Amino acid sequence: MILETRAVEPFMKNGYVLGCETTRRGVVIDPGDEVEQLIDAARQHHLSIDYILLTHAHLDHITGVKRAKEACNAPVGLHRDDNFLYEAVVQQGMAFGFRVERQPPVRFLLRRSGPWRFGEYAAWVHHTPGHCPGGVCLAVGREDGSERTLIVGDTLFAGSIGRTDLPGGDLATLLRSIRNVLFAFPDETPVLSGHGEPTTIGRERRTNPFLVS
Ligand SMILES: [Zn+2]
Ligand SMILES: [Zn+2]
Repeated sequence: MILETRAVEPFMKNGYVLGCETTRRGVVIDPGDEVEQLIDAARQHHLSIDYILLTHAHLDHITGVKRAKEACNAPVGLHRDDNFLYEAVVQQGMAFGFRVERQPPVRFLLRRSGPWRFGEYAAWVHHTPGHCPGGVCLAVGREDGSERTLIVGDTLFAGSIGRTDLPGGDLATLLRSIRNVLFAFPDETPVLSGHGEPTTIGRERRTNPFLVS
């Protein structure tokens, strides 16, 4: 699977381009301020983007949606429980001292089902509320295989967990999402977070100070 990650100041939020090396179909995940670099990466791999998928609707994960949609002409998917955040992007920007444009309407709602296919790969959606109400984990892999890579947004980080002090956040819900949904995947499963370095389910299960019991 083609996998490209980009992050820029000030939020250093990871945006992702995933693609199928055979069919050259792809998805863009969480386009923020690094959106031009994601578009460049997709072009370098000659990818046609089928979907723009959002792990959640915090400011840093959605400021590039409009530009990504212009460049890729792909529909935008978000869990419905984060629509209130998506609709309030201008106010979210003001809270952080940034002027932000409204983003184009969400075209489809991410549900547990899916999967959202791109070539020989697909993204399965798992609802993981806690950091915000509509947070999801995207479990990506070959449609005919069982191995998955998890794009977890801000639910879980290498050595840490998502903050729960923003609107709709809840710590007990977050811990339940991590334990019941993310930790249901095998130890060797790669975890790609919304910020920082990649990790694995096994490493976080064994060493994450917020999760070892
Ligand atoms: Zn967030
Ligand atoms: Zn974030």
